[in-house]
Amino acid sequence: MTLSIVYKCRHCGHMIGEIEQQIVSTSMLGWDKLSYRDKEKMIQYKNNGDVHVQSICENCEDSLGQHPIYYELDYFIH
Ligand SMILES: [Zn+2]
Repeated sequence: MTLSIVYKCRHCGHMIGEIEQQIVSTSMLGWDKLSYRDKEKMIQYKNNGDVHVQSICENCEDSLGQHPIYYELDYFIH
């Protein structure tokens, strides 16, 4: 089975990338190292079989690096 994994920025919604992957086990992706709560927050399983992963794009990473306060804002918003 092939799975589409879509990485999207959780801050601006920018699509960072999409990979097609033959899934043997989610441990291949390191997901077994995430806690259940992290997985629930970061990974969304779509009805069409795609998996959307909440990540962060370069732009937002840059602005967060320059303005670390945004990390705290993000914490409060969610
Ligand atoms: Zn972004």
